[in-house]
Amino acid sequence: MKFIEFGLDYKILKSIEEQGFKKPTDIQFKSIPPILKGEDVLAIAQTGTGKTAAFVVPILDILQKRKRGEHNTGTRCIVMAPTHELAEQIAQVFRELGKHTNLKFVSIFGGVDQAPQIAKLQAGVDVLIATPGRLFDLVSQEHLRIYKTEILVLDEADHMLDLGFNKDIHDLIKFLPKNRQTLFFSATISPTIKKLAYALVNKPIRIQISPKNTVAKNVVHSVAYIKMDDKRFFLERTVLENPDSKILVFVRTKVRAERVFKALERVDIKSVTIHGDKTQEERFNAMTSFRTGESKILIATDISARGIDIPNVDFVINYDLPDKDENYVHRVGRTGRGNQKGYAVSYCSEEEKELLADIEAYLGDAIEVITIAHDEYVDTLAFSQQSSTDWKTLMRDAEREETDFKKKKKPAKKKKKK
Ligand code: ADP
Ligand code: MG
Repeated sequence: MKFIEFGLDYKILKSIEEQGFKKPTDIQFKSIPPILKGEDVLAIAQTGTGKTAAFVVPILDILQKRKRGEHNTGTRCIVMAPTHELAEQIAQVFRELGKHTNLKFVSIFGGVDQAPQIAKLQAGVDVLIATPGRLFDLVSQEHLRIYKTEILVLDEADHMLDLGFNKDIHDLIKFLPKNRQTLFFSATISPTIKKLAYALVNKPIRIQISPKNTVAKNVVHSVAYIKMDDKRFFLERTVLENPDSKILVFVRTKVRAERVFKALERVDIKSVTIHGDKTQEERFNAMTSFRTGESKILIATDISARGIDIPNVDFVINYDLPDKDENYVHRVGRTGRGNQKGYAVSYCSEEEKELLADIEAYLGDAIEVITIAHDEYVDTLAFSQQSSTDWKTLMRDAEREETDFKKKKKPAKKKKKK
């Protein structure tokens, strides 16, 4: 099967070729025809299998061929994504694959000044890629006209229909026309969320590439039992033994992200962090520096687990196990993208064994265990202690200084007494 067989506009075929896509991936092969026909689609396929182009390509073709309605001065297609970074990344795919068309793409998200975003919307856009909160604000302030929107896409659909986002989506849908085309894309979906999705659409076509919510086949993943306090030494060793590798480290909380950053800093290892407490600019800078390879280590919370496509991530390390079992699949799915191979390892402490059991139940399979021999475990701790700037050495030096100081002080006291 070749892209040319879908009957796509030559302007789109040209950019697909320039992008270096030789043939459609499975999910593209299965989703593109029904989307082109105008059907509603719920598509589930593993991480890194090209879901973005699976909706971007047919949407570009539809918008290119159908022409804007005479009285439609609003947004023709809305794509919703859970984070700023992902919205921007999807916008980039639209820009790349749509560069030979005259279609207009705009991405908007919260946390940045609204005025420039409003200015961009005034002229009418073809595709708007947004996070739900900011989108809803703009619609309710009447800066955004969506009553003639033709296509709605929810990327990371299960996450978007879950908890916090669900309300924003439902509020927004009230403003959209009923006869729109709705597309859902995700790597994971639970039966409850599937019901919520079906409630929003007409007779959707369901496309599921992998029968279960399993880890992408390009990712070799395993677990190692490591004490909570020893995790930093194993991370340090992995980093030092793989100096050229790009490593994405997932932690449970923002505070832990900063703590791991500091622990690495103490042993002279540079890293960047990304989490909800960072400003939009800091998040953007961290992501860019990791993407370009300027920073080899990115420490992130689960906000970055979804959808982010960074080439050549060699390792994903779950420094902490995720609280939500499906996030395991999303985290390890940041490596092994497209045709690349990836490795993921989870550091599981005694306290996290229950979480591990939940994740394995979710995967329907046990995760391979890397057995660390006692000697090797001790070695790793020793390995770290060799470093002169290591915190243990610093602590020992500090203790020594303190005792030396006390020793020196004592004779002085005695002198006074005399
Ligand atoms: P998903 O959303 O399924 O996790 P993405 O859409 O982010 O995956 O795509 C993962 C990677 O695969 C991207 O880097 C993308 O450029 C690449 N890719 C997408 N489609 C193709 C294709 N047909 N041939 C080769 N690479 C592709
Ligand atoms: Mg995706």
